[in-house]
Amino acid sequence: MTVAVVLFTSDLRLHDHPPLHAALRSADEVVPLFVRDPAVHAVGFDGPNRAAFLADCLADLDSSLRRRGGRLVVRTGPVAREVRAVAAACGATEVHIAAGVSGFAHRREERLRTGLDADGVALRVHDRVITAVAPGAVTPQGSDHFAVFTPYLRRWSEERLRDPLPAPRAVRVPEAVRGEEPPSRAGVADVSPDLPPGGESAGRDRFARWADSGLARYEDGHDDLAGDATSRLSPYLHFGALSPVEVVRRARARGGAGAEAFVRQLCWRDFHHQVLAARPEASVRDYRPRGDRWRGEEDAAEEIAAWREGRTGYPVVDAGMRQLRHEGWMHNRARLLVASFLTKTLYVDWRIGARHFLRFLVDGDLVNNQLNWQWVAGTGTDTRPHRVLNPVLQGRRYDPDGTYVRRWVPELADVGGAAVHEPWRLPEHERSLLPYPEPLLDLAEGLTRFRRARGRD
Ligand code: FAD
Repeated sequence: MTVAVVLFTSDLRLHDHPPLHAALRSADEVVPLFVRDPAVHAVGFDGPNRAAFLADCLADLDSSLRRRGGRLVVRTGPVAREVRAVAAACGATEVHIAAGVSGFAHRREERLRTGLDADGVALRVHDRVITAVAPGAVTPQGSDHFAVFTPYLRRWSEERLRDPLPAPRAVRVPEAVRGEEPPSRAGVADVSPDLPPGGESAGRDRFARWADSGLARYEDGHDDLAGDATSRLSPYLHFGALSPVEVVRRARARGGAGAEAFVRQLCWRDFHHQVLAARPEASVRDYRPRGDRWRGEEDAAEEIAAWREGRTGYPVVDAGMRQLRHEGWMHNRARLLVASFLTKTLYVDWRIGARHFLRFLVDGDLVNNQLNWQWVAGTGTDTRPHRVLNPVLQGRRYDPDGTYVRRWVPELADVGGAAVHEPWRLPEHERSLLPYPEPLLDLAEGLTRFRRARGRD
């Protein structure tokens, strides 16, 4: 009787799961294992929204495995120690895991390899589980990664994606292995009120519905703040409840401009993964330093607090920041706007904004969050690093009738038309009745400071 362990990390699904597929082919029994590693807590990576969504994912994985005669084994402790203990308890000869890209994932893999080597257990690492195309699979001449998106997109699009693997019919788990109850969402405090349900089943349902009703409209609608016409699949992709290979393949099969635009966004996800895989330090350090001397908590405490709480006096910025708290998610256009406002208009360090996002975002991950923040701050891969988004113009363009602002900033619910983006222009007698703050600073003032800082005045 041969036994293999599959360590689930950011790949909480049964469909299109190469490590599980390989383990089931090579062994008679398989232990599907998830380890709650206190190291994740130590780096602050288990914010309430992600902890709640994770609990849903684990519960769903467990019940899907039970329907196939198996179960999910959950353990708490340092990951290498727990994996070794489980492998020893059931006499496993192999451990399968998806390749990760962050420094954290690399260290985890190293520790596992060292420990398992000592026990005579093989570690098998599978790529194209967390991304559609593996980091490093396509590279430009003379470099280990693409630093610019468009040439990456071209090469990425030419890669042949494997056929998605079916979910297994049956999984036999050895009796001897003990685990604990999976965590429950009900046990997590301070969860955003409108957090979506997690799990592979919910993710697959959402994708199927959205592919039928939203994909075709995606190209025209994805920037419309109030229209909410994006897929909202990001948390399912973040936790690996959906396979990026399968999502790309199924979207492409639908065809059309909507599918093409959507697949392009999924390519951004892989693009950032290959940047971080090659430059893990970019999660904390400027990818392209611009000589910035950012303002920090001590220089701009009140402005940062106003930004975090959604009371900057710029309605579309405040709407985005309030959506983040309420849903644990924010529309991409709003993420761009609020991040530009913090880094370029207030000239505050992008790391402060990234940390706040990671606290609330249900899809918050080191790869996409840090590298998108760097993109907006102009220290990342944007080819126009000094551009500044004007929140009034952007509000008028992407929320022309103010529906998004009124949805999230109820103080402005009765302000009609486009005036909602500039309440300070209302006649004094109307303005003074609104319980809404004056703008935190003049946009021109912010622009001058930023241009001077970047040596462009
Ligand atoms: P859709 O528009 O439906 O796109 C489909 C999928 O493509 C998304 O689910 C996502 O996986 C991927 N995608 C889309 N845009 C991007 C992008 N710019 N970069 C990488 N992948 C992308 N995305 C995260 O998944 N996690 C984060 O922590 C995160 N932080 C961000 C921080 C900032 C400052 C900015 C500007 C963007 C951030 N994004 C992040 C990217 C993007 O905003 C979200 O992926 C998107 O809004 C999720 O909504 P959706 O699933 O409806 O996207």
